[in-house]
Amino acid sequence: MKIQSIEAIPLKANFKQLFQFGLIDRKSSQNVILKIVTDEGLVGYGEACPVPAFTAETQKSVVDNLNERVTPLILGKDPLDREPLLRQLERFLPHCPFTLTAVDLALWDIAGKAANLSVTALLGGKYRDKITMHGSVGWGEPESMVETALAQLELGYTALKLYAGRGLLDDDLKRLERVRASLPAEIQLLVDVNGLWSVTDCLKALPRLAAIGVIVLEQPLPAWDKDGQAEVVRRSSIDLAADESVYQSYDVVEVARRQTARVINLGLSKLGGLLRSRECATVARVSGLKVMVGSVLELGIATAGGLHLAASLPDLPYPNYLVGPLKYEQDVVTNPIRVEGGQIAVPGGPGLGVEIDEAALRRQDARAK
Ligand SMILES: [Mg+2]
Repeated sequence: MKIQSIEAIPLKANFKQLFQFGLIDRKSSQNVILKIVTDEGLVGYGEACPVPAFTAETQKSVVDNLNERVTPLILGKDPLDREPLLRQLERFLPHCPFTLTAVDLALWDIAGKAANLSVTALLGGKYRDKITMHGSVGWGEPESMVETALAQLELGYTALKLYAGRGLLDDDLKRLERVRASLPAEIQLLVDVNGLWSVTDCLKALPRLAAIGVIVLEQPLPAWDKDGQAEVVRRSSIDLAADESVYQSYDVVEVARRQTARVINLGLSKLGGLLRSRECATVARVSGLKVMVGSVLELGIATAGGLHLAASLPDLPYPNYLVGPLKYEQDVVTNPIRVEGGQIAVPGGPGLGVEIDEAALRRQDARAK
């Protein structure tokens, strides 16, 4: 089997609501859909979802790199040689994990379709059919955070991730306390600070976060502050998660070696796809670190990749975050995810298990006049 054609489709994708986290405001998204066709007629789909909080990739850079760097390297190659191809591409796409993810997903999709197996099966098989999710509440005015939190609970979530760090420390802690007070006691809270606090901020915040029952504190310090992270980990009874600190498996080695977190947030797109995410998960497991599966709020294709990854991991002690498609005005698949009782079923069928909605893809094609 040979790769016959590659098409990168930039989308005009919009969120239903403004989503604020870290110092980023997202109202629209720069997704690129990748379509790889083989000489045997198999079609694999991938998705890139570049977000400025993580890399300098843009929709244009993703499309240009797919056309100019990826296409010459993989055209005519056997798509089943997934790992050698992706290892070669890594060297030509430094610091472009979102671009790499699009290719990675399309190659796994083709491999699954060729073998009539799901991506979960290719990854080793399923530990679970449904993945437990948490909802999310972006940073905002306290009233609107409470309103969003209560609306999220209608989907059956038993946990919510709240974003903090943009406001003054005391104001942000009051926001979190305010939301906590409005929720039933059994709802668990995770807090993501996107690296915006200092060590001093963290040490002040920890008792108040513990008092409102926060179970995971994600990336409170900037990625570069390894000593600070280790200091906070030593003094925290709350599990600290690394997100912006980890882009590849070597970063997980560093987290383990320096004890800068106890949990790795496996964001498929930020890590460069399934191959690299699985490698990070394995390094985390053998290093005694926990994992959770995160996202940057992708559409249905990359979200399906995250669901397959989550299905194949032995231990998922915390709720995960693969609810991106719910936040968009429209998806590009005909079988969108559904949250039931706070869980999402892993797609069945070969490959990623997504059916592409060609009409929706055409409607959102940013190249269309
Ligand atoms: Mg995060």
